[in-house]
Amino acid sequence: MRPENPWPMVYTRVALALLGMLVLGLLTGQWLLVFLLGALAALVWDWINLRRLERWLRLGRKLDPPKSVGFWGDIFDGLYRMRKRSRERDRRRRKLVRNYRDSIKAMPDATVVLSEDYRIEWCNQAALDLLGLRWPRDEGQRISNIVRHPDFVTFVSWHGREARTVSLPSPVDARLWLEVRLVPHAKKRYLLLARDITAFRRLETMRSDFVANVSHELRTPLTVIYGVSETLGHELGEDPEYARSVELLQEQAERMKILVDDLLLLARLETGGKPGHGDWVDVPELLSGLIEEGRLLSGARRHRITLEAEPDLVILGNEKELRSAFANLLANAINYTPDGGEVDLRWWADASGARLQVSDTGIGIEAQHIERLTERFYRVDTGRSKSRGGTGLGLAIVKHVLMRHSARLSIDSEPGRGSTFTCSFPPGILRRSGVDRHRATA
Ligand code: ADP
Repeated sequence: MRPENPWPMVYTRVALALLGMLVLGLLTGQWLLVFLLGALAALVWDWINLRRLERWLRLGRKLDPPKSVGFWGDIFDGLYRMRKRSRERDRRRRKLVRNYRDSIKAMPDATVVLSEDYRIEWCNQAALDLLGLRWPRDEGQRISNIVRHPDFVTFVSWHGREARTVSLPSPVDARLWLEVRLVPHAKKRYLLLARDITAFRRLETMRSDFVANVSHELRTPLTVIYGVSETLGHELGEDPEYARSVELLQEQAERMKILVDDLLLLARLETGGKPGHGDWVDVPELLSGLIEEGRLLSGARRHRITLEAEPDLVILGNEKELRSAFANLLANAINYTPDGGEVDLRWWADASGARLQVSDTGIGIEAQHIERLTERFYRVDTGRSKSRGGTGLGLAIVKHVLMRHSARLSIDSEPGRGSTFTCSFPPGILRRSGVDRHRATA
């Protein structure tokens, strides 16, 4: 309810007081004295109430405001109502915060609030159970001092305000696998969420073990078919009646061989341990070799392939895997770019890490496909992919290799204009050993 406007009453009271003084002045004939006494009384009244207000503001804000009558009574009543409202608001806010905290506490996923420099500000019970934090002992500690898995330390050291994930064994029980997400929240805070993915991982392992076993079993019969098709090619290649069939047999046997090899590689990448952190891979040299292979692949299609790389920039990782990932990106750029088009490779680093970028002036990819490109066997145009000898596994391999190096793949593309595939590596696995810049053009 809106409080009433007190001013009409104030004016009426003042007018009545003046009238009273006027009558008293008339009766006594002491005008000046009556008015002086009236003004003095008003002053004393205001003074007393001002003092009470000041005392309340200074000492007694937890107590109710003083009581009074008239105009001062209205002011004190207004203050009382304001205080009541603000108390209610505070109570509601406190209840809301308590409810939020209670629901986060009850969540089965670990939740940790981190400051800008990754120090623990708050965590729930699941964080104690899954991440091995101790509360309140670990309050204010850097999270990477407590969860010391190398992948986690690299993950946290990778500055950036976008959400990111990593999976690792639980520091409490190595049989438990956790998926950890780091989400920027508020202005300068992070929310670290960890969930138990042990069951999901077990299923994934079963699935990839199955694929790996089938691929492995297929390898021997395929090698035989491939060998026989070659022999037949030599024997019957000249015979017009069989030449086409033998050619087809060879082509399909070759395709299946590549497919099985890719499936086996993918299964190895999925289930194998992380690459040993002892090999410094000379990426510029690796890329120089790759563009030579790229030129061979392009052949008569005469693409212009260029390389710009910081020669001193090396990376800790597995050379074979990185070669396979970069070769896939380069082969795709060539395969999906019309004859004579441009393919550029760049390798450089800045404060946020290193980037390997493969861009082409090819057919490009429509936006709705980009999200799904790294899925196994996902192709934008199956016919075109198969006619170029693609297995549909190339980008899945790239994704897994990058994941194993704590890196990410981003894809930027416009139909008809070309595509850019960028692999971003965190700064923790890089080293510089020289100064000048290396260029090569084909
Ligand atoms: P594929 O063996 O079919 O090339 P990938 O996994 O390497 O399989 O690629 C998946 C799909 O992504 C391809 O089928 C193709 O449609 C699309 N793609 C990949 N790279 C490019 C590129 N540079 N330009 C256009 N499309 C591409």
